[in-house]
Amino acid sequence: MARNGVKLGTALLRGLGRKCPCCGEASAFRGYLKVVDTCPSCDTPLSLYPTDDGPAYLTMLLIGHVIIAPAFFFPVVWQEPQVTIPILIGSIGALTLAALPFVKGAFLALLWYLGLKHAR
Ligand SMILES: [Zn+2]
Repeated sequence: MARNGVKLGTALLRGLGRKCPCCGEASAFRGYLKVVDTCPSCDTPLSLYPTDDGPAYLTMLLIGHVIIAPAFFFPVVWQEPQVTIPILIGSIGALTLAALPFVKGAFLALLWYLGLKHAR
């Protein structure tokens, strides 16, 4: 199955690169997280796809697993919690903010691929 001749994997990779999932030519974002209204290259109406809070939840889920799960395998992390907990929380925050634009791009690509637009 493909949408506009674009396979799901291609669309997701374009989204991870913050590019338009349809053409892969132009950026799908203006600024940090704001989706462009329409793709300047192919006129796909990207703002019709409601990413809402989905990328934030998904990013926190992924980063939480990357940071918290390994911490349980290293007991030394919990021997000085007044030092390690702020480091863990800061790391989760920084990595979440770093990953969020790329996860949002992939999420936008998934919504575009599935054709899940705002109901109007
Ligand atoms: Zn495009």
